[in-house]
Amino acid sequence: MRLYPFVFFAFLVSCGPAVRTGNTTTENPVANSGTGMSSAEFSVSEVTRIEKVLSADDMQGRGVFTPGIEKAASFIASEFERIGLEKSANANGYQQAFDLIRPAFKSATATLDEKIIEQKDIIVITTTENLTVNEQSGYEVVTIPKGGEFFNEARKHVNAGMNRLVMVDPSHSANFPRLTNFKRQMMPSVNSTIFILGETVPSKFSISAIHDIKKAALSNVVGILPGTSRKDEYVIFSGHYDHLGIGKPLNGDSIFNGANDDAAGITAVIMLADYFKRTGGNERTIIFAAFTAEESGGFGSRYFSQQFDPAKVMAMFNIEMIGTESKWGKNSAFITGYEKTDMGKIMEKNLAGSGFKFYPDPYPAQQLFYRSDNATLARLGVPAHTISTSKMDSEPYYHTADDEFETLDMANMAQIIKAIAISSRTIISGADTPSRVNTSELR
Ligand SMILES: [Zn+2]
Repeated sequence: MRLYPFVFFAFLVSCGPAVRTGNTTTENPVANSGTGMSSAEFSVSEVTRIEKVLSADDMQGRGVFTPGIEKAASFIASEFERIGLEKSANANGYQQAFDLIRPAFKSATATLDEKIIEQKDIIVITTTENLTVNEQSGYEVVTIPKGGEFFNEARKHVNAGMNRLVMVDPSHSANFPRLTNFKRQMMPSVNSTIFILGETVPSKFSISAIHDIKKAALSNVVGILPGTSRKDEYVIFSGHYDHLGIGKPLNGDSIFNGANDDAAGITAVIMLADYFKRTGGNERTIIFAAFTAEESGGFGSRYFSQQFDPAKVMAMFNIEMIGTESKWGKNSAFITGYEKTDMGKIMEKNLAGSGFKFYPDPYPAQQLFYRSDNATLARLGVPAHTISTSKMDSEPYYHTADDEFETLDMANMAQIIKAIAISSRTIISGADTPSRVNTSELR
């Protein structure tokens, strides 16, 4: 789960040390009954095995562009192999590789209506090495006025897939330098966004920017279980396997293990793949996806979503941070963006009598729906939600070096994974098809 946008930028500037606030204790959850599934299907020892490997110190916090994340990808691929999932046609094995661009700024100049702009007031988000633009280059000139959600508006311009010159009202000058965070990592694009701090919309302009364009490879890990009768209808189970890597040492520990965020979600994806492969007979095709680069902007799910027709995706169960007890206690979880489709209602119906309860997200102010990989597919209309148990108003180890295996409850996690399997039953069989997300209502 990503930080809230504004906090996220602050975090990138100073990957701050964590505060140790004490240890949690875990107890065995009460076994439930009436699910038609034995608990051996989701064994605590198997959940423990997978979670321990993914959150171990030798994965170095699974930071993007590190050997640690490569190691994690190989492990997930080896699990998909062991289970016997199929590989997607357009990937090299289970790993779906793609390039991200990391532009290094060299220089920029701008003249607007004959007025020379200082370099510090120009930020160009581009994957083009030498960019030269004037009023005849077809750039749309827009503004970010005073007030409003600055980073949100800026993000919309960057992601619009258009060439834009964005005049930023000087009231945003304190936050303006942070726009450079948009070019820490970028998808290759023919479009550029030029931000200039200034009030007036120019009729004539001449702008140039030079960057050193570096490419770096990343990969998602994807495995498939083809459907029996509805092969062209997909159901996705996903999580993200990247985390924050290595930060400042605290009590001698500098590794952000991300045991809950989101080794827990990947553990669920592997357990679910194993379960559905063993039971077989899934009418719809099931895709199991471990995304990369979620924490730094959701690049893995973005690349993934471009590899198929989103209209074929009937549902996405994205799983994030299910290793601790929810605010309602054991055997419960919440669904982000609950009101955006009827998928949550279908899941609840399937859970009736099982002893599990899934609730609408109790932290709507935190915008969790937009802070994980489900959002990318939801923006394409897919009923895509994140399932979590994380107490987002009080989770003590969220994004700290203390997000470690020892703080998680393996028995409860096994139960939650089982509940996800039960909740998806009629969606996998084709008996239920969730309503689509109305994309015009998304922010
Ligand atoms: Zn996170």
